[in-house]
Amino acid sequence: MVSPGPLATARAPGPALDAGVLARAGSLYRDLHAHPELSGREERTAARFAAALREAGCAVTTGIGGHGVVGVLANGVGPAVMLRAELDALPVAERTGLPYASTAGALDGEGRRVPVMHACGHDLHLAAAVGAAAHLDRVRDRWRGTLLVLGQPAEETLTGAAALIEDGLYERFGRPDLLLAQHAAPLPAGMVAHGSGPMTAGCVTLEVTLTGRGGHAATPHLCVDPVVLAATVVVQLQTIVARQVGPAEQVTLTVGSLRAGHHPGVIPEEATLGVTIRALSDRALDDVRDRVVRTVRGCCEAAGSPVEPVLQVVSRTPAYRGDPEVAARLRAAHERTFGADRVAWWPSSLAAEDFPLLADGIPSGYWMLGVVGPRQWRAAPGGSAAEKLAALPANHSPSFAPYAGLALPAGVEALASGALTALAPE
Ligand SMILES: [Zn+2]
Ligand SMILES: [Zn+2]
Repeated sequence: MVSPGPLATARAPGPALDAGVLARAGSLYRDLHAHPELSGREERTAARFAAALREAGCAVTTGIGGHGVVGVLANGVGPAVMLRAELDALPVAERTGLPYASTAGALDGEGRRVPVMHACGHDLHLAAAVGAAAHLDRVRDRWRGTLLVLGQPAEETLTGAAALIEDGLYERFGRPDLLLAQHAAPLPAGMVAHGSGPMTAGCVTLEVTLTGRGGHAATPHLCVDPVVLAATVVVQLQTIVARQVGPAEQVTLTVGSLRAGHHPGVIPEEATLGVTIRALSDRALDDVRDRVVRTVRGCCEAAGSPVEPVLQVVSRTPAYRGDPEVAARLRAAHERTFGADRVAWWPSSLAAEDFPLLADGIPSGYWMLGVVGPRQWRAAPGGSAAEKLAALPANHSPSFAPYAGLALPAGVEALASGALTALAPE
């Protein structure tokens, strides 16, 4: 790998996107959207993405850290830039009414059939990354170096980035000199937004197993009821953010799943809770995690639980603050590409990502990609942009429907111009 040297200034405006490149990216997007797959099971998506990367001129390797894909577009001696997109979708029933809406289903971890939808825009990220590779392949005379395009599995479970690193992603393909990613967001399509503070929050996901003593519903005094214990834990956990964390700290705690029992007449043996903690600082994240452990143990002791609770950390990802120098260069490149009025500021939010694990020790940049179509924006209730943003279906909503006609070309241009900040010779 060649050292990057000073990041170059992108030339603007870049060559127009080829209509064929955009048409192929559009049909890839609609195909991926219609055939979403859950985290860790992205077999078809990975195959489709790999084929599209080959068509875009890349040498492709599959099966990295699960269904991970890497495409390599080599173009002489120079820096290496990696574009990252995610392969997975969510257990959400699509209600967009789009002609290419998903009707897919899959079995969840417990063998139940669930609907599946690309409700986070990862299909858009994949199609934009392929489009950027195809575009950069067509304008090879404008840059030198290596473009790597990464399809990451299992982002929604925050486990895929760790799996890629574990499987030797950077040993096999080298550490890039610049790592870039973008994420669909409920901003007007055709816009991008950069942050000045943290772009994504730190996140810890815990699986909590509470043990009771099962028995007959008629004799609760002879049992330790894990359903009542779980309910107590849920309520007590809510006091952490409300009553124990400083009000200026941005923290959330959500119990997103609670499972116990199979029959109304039987007090079960066990209850499990899925807990997500998010914070903008690692210190707050770990502090709240410690308070969760203490609260759960205290509730179990008070209930007379016969076994210590088990708290398993399912995933942990730190908050992401991009490299300020890289962020400034990317923002400038995007302002030249789109015009300053289409490059917004993004406020810190508690959305979480496992991108920071991939970006650890590597210069990196991350921005938000607007997906709301003009008609949808006009129809959204509210007089101000903030009111409209609050009313629009956000990521993970069954009605999340990116307006690909504008968002996809913007996503391609944002990635390509971002990559050229490092790849284009001075
Ligand atoms: Zn998501
Ligand atoms: Zn996402």
